[in-house]
Amino acid sequence: MSSVPLFDILIRNATLQGDPSLVDIGIRDGRVAEILPVAQRQETKARVEEDAGGRLVLPGFVDTHVHLDKSCLLACCRGGGGGLKGAVSAVSRLKQDFTEEDVYRRGARTIEMAILQGTMHMRTHVEVDPRVGLRSFAAIQRLKRDYAFAIDLSICVFPQEGLLNDPGTEALLEQALDGGADLLGGCPYTDSDPSAHMERIFAMAQSHDVDLDFHLDFDLDPSWTHMDEICRLAEAQGWQGRVAIGHVTKLAAMDEDAFERHVTRLAAAGVAVTALPSTDLYLNGRDKGFRAVRGVAPVHLLAERGVTASIATNNVLNPFTPYGDCSLLRMANLYANLMHLGPDGFSQCLRLITQDAARLMRIEDYGIAPGHAADLIVLDATDEDEAFGSIAPAQMGFKNGRKTFERQARILR
Ligand SMILES: [Zn+2]
Repeated sequence: MSSVPLFDILIRNATLQGDPSLVDIGIRDGRVAEILPVAQRQETKARVEEDAGGRLVLPGFVDTHVHLDKSCLLACCRGGGGGLKGAVSAVSRLKQDFTEEDVYRRGARTIEMAILQGTMHMRTHVEVDPRVGLRSFAAIQRLKRDYAFAIDLSICVFPQEGLLNDPGTEALLEQALDGGADLLGGCPYTDSDPSAHMERIFAMAQSHDVDLDFHLDFDLDPSWTHMDEICRLAEAQGWQGRVAIGHVTKLAAMDEDAFERHVTRLAAAGVAVTALPSTDLYLNGRDKGFRAVRGVAPVHLLAERGVTASIATNNVLNPFTPYGDCSLLRMANLYANLMHLGPDGFSQCLRLITQDAARLMRIEDYGIAPGHAADLIVLDATDEDEAFGSIAPAQMGFKNGRKTFERQARILR
């Protein structure tokens, strides 16, 4: 009989989504090797065994939209004018003094929070312009390398304060794309010429062969939109499936006909949509005070109609969003709460931070299945509804089959 262990790690007594019967998950060479029903358990050898204790095991969360470079600036939030413009100009002033070390330190704090909440893939936007140069970009590149053991970081450089109205920005973005940025973002609503901004960003993406992720339609005025132009450009360039748009809060303010028309258009053009509930609620509808309508795009309805969609964190503890603990589960729970979704909608919301989000980021081998990357988290709940409803904390995580964190049990005495 061979003494060579069959698995590097065996996670015993795991509950998977949609099936109450327990399984053991065997991991070999960083990948899921086998999923074995506990009811038919035979002797299996593994170098290391972990006991999930009947808890829910999910693939690691996917945060499609975060701003690590301007996170953790809460101390600078007081006294601001509020609103989107106020937040952009507050950070614009601060970032002139950002150093690479400062961005690295704040980004590391945020990324560690995210890892400990179970996030294993993250797309971070990084501002590049003449005020901050490439300092934030350099810091985020270091974070990508230093935390690769626990999280895959994808870097999206973008012109937060416009492109055509901000001379020097395009050359810096080109340098960042030549220097290892993974994709390019756009922000037409801050540009003096939004149409030219979108066209230029698409052209740059084509010459560098990278995906695109825009900040778009971030207000509650349904009388105009940039969605049609983004869809047109995506189709003209053959970039279907390679373009995402974030916020798109206008969708929350449109009448039924306009909403249906735009959802159909987005699905046809293969343009994905991300809702950022915490930021969208905080910055939208301020003129209406506590009577403001919900300013969050109903991405679960978009997903039902074939649009790739996700829910993401966006900003953490800064003038755009002075809240956040990087829990994607909390963000999806908040979204469900404001969309009146009960347990019947929990699975759907969970997909928006797992499978659907992975499709948006074009992550291969995602999900718990033989041959896929062993990126797994154990949540402190025994089924999906309880995990989602209670925002169950992640007890432990495995990235590429290696244990990356563990939460100590809290004991009531
Ligand atoms: Zn953003």
